[in-house]
Amino acid sequence: MQEELTKLRDEALQKVREATDLKQLQNIRVQYLGKKGPITEVLRGMGKLSKEERPKIGALANEIREVIAGEITSKQEQLEKAEIEKKLQQETIDVTLPGRPVRTGNHHPLQAVIEEIEDLFIGKGYTVEEGPEVETDYYNFEALNLPKGHPARDMQDSFYITDEILLRTHTSPVQARTLEKYKGKGPVKIICPGKVYRRDTDDATHSHQFTQIEGLVVDENIRMSDLKGTLEVFAKKLFGEDRQIRLRPSFFPFTEPSVEVDVSCFKCSMKGCHVCKGTGWIEILGAGMVHPNVLEMAGFDSKKYRGFAFGMGPERIAMLKYGIDDIRHFYTNDVRFLKQFKQA
Ligand SMILES: [Zn+2]
Repeated sequence: MQEELTKLRDEALQKVREATDLKQLQNIRVQYLGKKGPITEVLRGMGKLSKEERPKIGALANEIREVIAGEITSKQEQLEKAEIEKKLQQETIDVTLPGRPVRTGNHHPLQAVIEEIEDLFIGKGYTVEEGPEVETDYYNFEALNLPKGHPARDMQDSFYITDEILLRTHTSPVQARTLEKYKGKGPVKIICPGKVYRRDTDDATHSHQFTQIEGLVVDENIRMSDLKGTLEVFAKKLFGEDRQIRLRPSFFPFTEPSVEVDVSCFKCSMKGCHVCKGTGWIEILGAGMVHPNVLEMAGFDSKKYRGFAFGMGPERIAMLKYGIDDIRHFYTNDVRFLKQFKQA
């Protein structure tokens, strides 16, 4: 029996030495040390042995098990190490190869225009204010001098959630909310950028969702000339230093007087082209002196305070600036379109 065990040991150790991968090694472990292995088998026959022999054989069998297990473990470490070495060699990085370019995104052209306008006004001491896109009828219309049934409401057909709650049709409710926050004390100098919604049928120049930026200044002694000066700086910053502006009378319920603001054509220097439709002027925004009713409703004394407000559509500005011919490009997320504004 002793001989049998030593033979098994030598046989097993030989196989371990010859093993070339971890799978073979695992098979050897199962074959010799497993419950159905030959060593276990030998030990089962121990009942036939004398009392003196039994402990000797038992001890020898255990010793052999340990030797085999020890050899397997050290061979396993050896093989694992070799495998790592092999992997490292195969996966060597050639640092002289040119790198793969990482694809980076860029600002959406609308966001770029909004940020450019924000930067300009923040530099002039304005703060940026935001408000809810789901708005009450009161802030969207009534607080802006548009009582229920006012005909000018028809120009801003909206998505109603209930009779009193709707998706805001302009960013002007942010003005009303901010004025309230100031509790009748100026100065107020804010711009409000954000998304607005109207029940329009989408086409090249209309979208049911679009963006606006409005500005509002309320203080003592604010005059129309302050508005004109501010807009002139704005037009020159966005469309070039040589630009001029002109004001045309218009109507908005929340301002009195109200004006439409045109900028001199940057494309043809006022000679007349398709951008300005041959007139030399391009309409860019609406503005006016804040209506006393709007000030009073927000708790401002309209005898003491006056203000001006202006509002524009970043879509229109971006379309003019970059020569974009269809407003729907902004909202269809075509990467080929968006990628063109990497520098924007
Ligand atoms: Zn022109």
